[in-house]
Amino acid sequence: MILSRPRILTIGYFTTDLLVKVDRFADIDDEVPIQTFGEYQGGSAANTAVGVRRLGVPAALLTCVGNDELARKGLRILASEDVDISRVATSRKGLGSPYVVGIVDPQGERQLYSYGGAAQELTPDQLTREDLADVTHLHICTLGPEFVERALEIAGEADHRITVSADPGALGCAGEKATGLRPLLPRLDLLFLNTVEMGLLINMTDVRQLPVCADALPPRVAIKLGAKGCVLYERGAALTFAPAFKVDAIDTTGAGDAFAAGHLVGWIHGLVGEGLATFSNAVAALSTRVHGCRDGLPTMNEVTAFLRVHCTTNPIETRMGR
Ligand code: ADP
Repeated sequence: MILSRPRILTIGYFTTDLLVKVDRFADIDDEVPIQTFGEYQGGSAANTAVGVRRLGVPAALLTCVGNDELARKGLRILASEDVDISRVATSRKGLGSPYVVGIVDPQGERQLYSYGGAAQELTPDQLTREDLADVTHLHICTLGPEFVERALEIAGEADHRITVSADPGALGCAGEKATGLRPLLPRLDLLFLNTVEMGLLINMTDVRQLPVCADALPPRVAIKLGAKGCVLYERGAALTFAPAFKVDAIDTTGAGDAFAAGHLVGWIHGLVGEGLATFSNAVAALSTRVHGCRDGLPTMNEVTAFLRVHCTTNPIETRMGR
């Protein structure tokens, strides 16, 4: 069976990010005045779901939150973005919703303190066959290999085609998580990494080596290069290098999630190679122009307008003959 309408389910974290700006970091027993304080919605899986939905593709989130005000506010915002939150579980142990406290100095250096709380209660068996009834793609963010394995297992048993991608992030590419993830990589449809994660997970420092390791990789790998853009690997095809768009980037937190959202939507619309890289880079670049992970995530019309200014067309519109 083929489902006519694509629908992406992201699995991973929802957080609230509390960002405090200071003139300098405090020493022990010290006190430093706060310059500004901001509260932002975050969490890779939640950000990616919002990014996908703003680009017009139905999106759902599977995560675990606390029975608290952070969750009520965060879920209200996700619902107002039309992200399906019916698979969001509430902690049975009474743990609070995850949050991150970030202290930022004038040079942009950061100290991050994170509370995992309810998210630590997420287990692979919370992803059930019923969750996949109307889903065409599963995207696993940050979580360990046991979640990737579960996603591959139940996607493989579904009565319709479900593709699976992973964006393990730095945490998912280190230590035991990397050891567990490596043997699963060839079974994935798509993998997102930056260059540091590429070194950690597949022991590679030069993207040009990717084709040499085809047997150890999924058929598609998207490597994010920050302000340099991206490289796309597709098994059997030449690598695609695409430079980033020149924008006044003021906050690149969450740019990787925006990139993943753009890439998933582009791929679902049939883009490959240069068109897919251009579209992904455009979505990510737009996300960097405002503070926070979510506010800059663009709609499809905003991507089209941005690409017109940059003397090119939206490859999705071109593909759909608009
Ligand atoms: P991650 O945070 O996951 O390591 P990156 O920092 O590489 O991700 O950013 C993801 C994508 O965001 C890049 O591949 C690029 O397309 C875009 N991007 C990041 N920084 C900038 C920037 N300064 N200007 C324009 N685009 C950027």
